[in-house]
Amino acid sequence: MQLEQLMYFIQGFAGGFGTKPVCPSCASQQAEGIDRKYFHQLLRCTNCGLLFRFPRETERDMVRFYQTGYQQSGLTTDLPDDETLATLMTSNFVGTAKDFTRFIDLFGVLSIAPGARVLDFGANWGYGMHQFQNAGFSVTGFEVSVPRAAFGEKLGLKIHTIWSNVVSASPFDVAFSAHVLEHTPDPAEAIKRQISVLKPGGYLIAVFPHGSPIYRDSDFEGFHKLWGRVHPVLPTVEFLTNTLPSSNCFIGALTDADLKRIASWNGTSKFIGDTTRSELLVVFRA
Ligand SMILES: [Zn+2]
Repeated sequence: MQLEQLMYFIQGFAGGFGTKPVCPSCASQQAEGIDRKYFHQLLRCTNCGLLFRFPRETERDMVRFYQTGYQQSGLTTDLPDDETLATLMTSNFVGTAKDFTRFIDLFGVLSIAPGARVLDFGANWGYGMHQFQNAGFSVTGFEVSVPRAAFGEKLGLKIHTIWSNVVSASPFDVAFSAHVLEHTPDPAEAIKRQISVLKPGGYLIAVFPHGSPIYRDSDFEGFHKLWGRVHPVLPTVEFLTNTLPSSNCFIGALTDADLKRIASWNGTSKFIGDTTRSELLVVFRA
């Protein structure tokens, strides 16, 4: 067992004594149990609908974890060597786990034209920014991990690690994030932050694993694997409905059927598409 894993296990055992679970997004102390792994519980905030792990680490511990402790197989945390990077850049990441074609197709469906200003929120080491740039968008990146943001220089990218620099570069036509919200200490704050730097009529676009009942009832085993050390929170449809500042949103999945629904969505009312899959898509119009 690695030290980080052992610390997590001990935190689960010791962290629950004498502390009450508090929702990381709305600070409510009203919660119900949804799932359990050894000493850690997954709770649902009965006020805002967020699913969150208890006990959990402080925001400061989380930021530290994302500098060096965070490991996932594949291109998420394994930084490619120079030769691999050159090949990936030449092939524009097509066919890899970091292929952004489906997101760029979604931009097309939403008539977000080349030249639009895009914020990649949680840009990691820049593979998405590279693809957005190649598709003609003007991209700004933000990443909490300083070493991974610095790696972006190898791709010719400047990735911000200080939020005020992103604010200085705003406003944006799109604030985009892929598999980021489930890693944040407070996903409501992350959503509000992104909306605050949008132009009027701009889009917040996010994809992430979720814990809505319609999905977890259909695939509890899959859902059970989604939360834990690396994913301390799971947003739900209920949480999004409570958190987004207005009902101008599409909540569904990045499927062909939902892309067709988005094409006919008017952008000014709430539309719920396919929420039965492990990955949820939200498109919010500011
Ligand atoms: Zn809450």
